[in-house]
Formats: sequence, structure tokens, C-alpha cells
Amino acid sequence: MDIPLLKEWIASSNKIVFLGGAGVSTESGIPDFRSDKGLYRQKARYSPEEMLSHDFFMTHPDKFYDFYRSNSIHTQALPNKAHQALAQLENEGRLSCIVTQNIDGLHQKAGSINVLELHGSIYRNYCMDCHKKYDLEKIVSSKALPLCSCGGMIRPDVVLYGEPLNSEVIEKTLEFISACDMLIVGGTSLQVYPAAGFVAYYRGSRLVIINKTPTPADREADLVLHGSIGEILGTAVSEN
Ligand code: NAD
Ligand code: ZN
Repeated sequence: MDIPLLKEWIASSNKIVFLGGAGVSTESGIPDFRSDKGLYRQKARYSPEEMLSHDFFMTHPDKFYDFYRSNSIHTQALPNKAHQALAQLENEGRLSCIVTQNIDGLHQKAGSINVLELHGSIYRNYCMDCHKKYDLEKIVSSKALPLCSCGGMIRPDVVLYGEPLNSEVIEKTLEFISACDMLIVGGTSLQVYPAAGFVAYYRGSRLVIINKTPTPADREADLVLHGSIGEILGTAVSEN
């Protein structure tokens, strides 16, 4: 694995964009979807994709919240070496932005500031009727359906399957990716669109993929590292 080359590129870049997914947080104890231990391997009546869909939320909000509370909310999880390395790069002025498909808030917990959350965040919630905002505690502490003081149902500000992404977030993402001098894509199977399509907006010659398993973008990448993202970024950044 060519970690020295990654290190060299990082050291000579100052507008890095990181595009990441669930694999960035597995070393923090949050399962991804498609790995061996991922949520897709669980045997259940409904698939995670079904249960985290807009239609399922509207038709079975109680079952949605059961699944969501036990599988999507990990308040005890701590940032790992990957989150820490990326926060350090932003701090050093090398990284301009993190684009994440994760909803767990771990990049911010590690100290990252410019984080574009493509799929929203478990920490933001709002009433579907009056739009009053609620924190995560409200979702965790409600026994059944979380209800607003107005009687409306509260929903997480996360993008459910079948819902469109926030267009402003997409716009900013494409701006940052088009302008970056190095694009590091990590911990994502690149199976979920539109995130997977964003890679094509990078026109430079430092496209790096860091993932345990092959991805569809490996072919066009300038450097592919198959392994643990915490180990790889931890090594490449700490010894800069
Ligand atoms: P995915 O499950 O499809 O893919 C994860 C990829 O990461 C896999 O290819 C796997 O090989 C790789 N991976 C796992 N652990 C790794 C590690 N330690 N080092 C390097 N690579 C590792 O996830 P995705 O592409 O992000 O898409 C799934 C969707 O699920 C996303 O929309 C995301 O919002 C959501 N999701 C989010 C969380 C979270 O917020 N932490 C967790 C699960 C799923
Ligand atoms: Zn309300």
C-alpha cells in the first residue's frame, strides 16, 4: 500500500476535499450498511432501506422509530483516527471541506468545522406541522412517537430513501469538489446516488480512494488504498 505517496500528496495540497460514507464510522462502533457486519446482513421482515424510506416513515412511523432509535442513533460513539486526522488537516489549512453521507455528527465531534452533511443529521429534528426545532434528546426520550407541543409529529432532519437531497448542500459540494486540488474518497461503497456521482466532478490528478473493499471509482482513481481508513489516514496525517 502506497501510504508514503498519500502522505506526500497531502503535504503538498491545500484544498483537499474528503468525501466519505458509513465506513468512516465503523471504527467508532457504528455499523455500515454493506459490510459483513453491516445492517443489510440482518435478517428482518423489512430491509434497512425500506425501513429508512419516506414511504415507510409515513405509513409505519412507530416501526420506523423503533428501527431508527436502535440502529441510527449512537450517542456514545466517539470519533476515531480517521475523523481526527481530517479535523487536523482542516486545522492545518490543507483541507477545505468534508462531504459526508453520515448522519452521526462524528466529524464535528472531532473538531471539523466545514462539514457538508448530504444526508442530514440525527442531531437536528423538527415538527412536521409547525417546524419547531428539537434536539436529539427529544427523540431518544420519547417513548413512542415524538410529538411536538402543537401535537404534530417530529421527524429527524435526515434524508430518507425516496427523498431528495438538499439542493444547497449539493451545490456547495459540487463547488468544493470542482475547485479542490485533491479528492479523497473513503469508507463508502459508492452505491448510493447522487453521492456516488459526485466523484466525476473532480478534474485533477489526485483522486484517492481509501476503502476496505473495491468501489466502482477504483478504475479512474490515481491512488487506491484498500484497508482501514483509520489506520491509513492516521498514519498519513500524524507523521506529516
Ligand atoms: P456502505 O455501507 O454502502 O459502504 C461502506 C463502505 O465502507 C464499504 O464499502 C466498506 O467496505 C467500507 N468500510 C467499512 N469499514 C471501513 C473501514 N474501517 N475502513 C475503510 N473502509 C471501510 O455505506 P455508504 O456508502 O456510506 O452508503 C450507505 C448509506 O447509509 C449512506 O447513505 C449513509 O448515510 C447511511 N449510513 C450512515 C451511517 C452513519 O451515519 N455512521 C451508518 C450506516 C449507514
Ligand atoms: Zn409543532
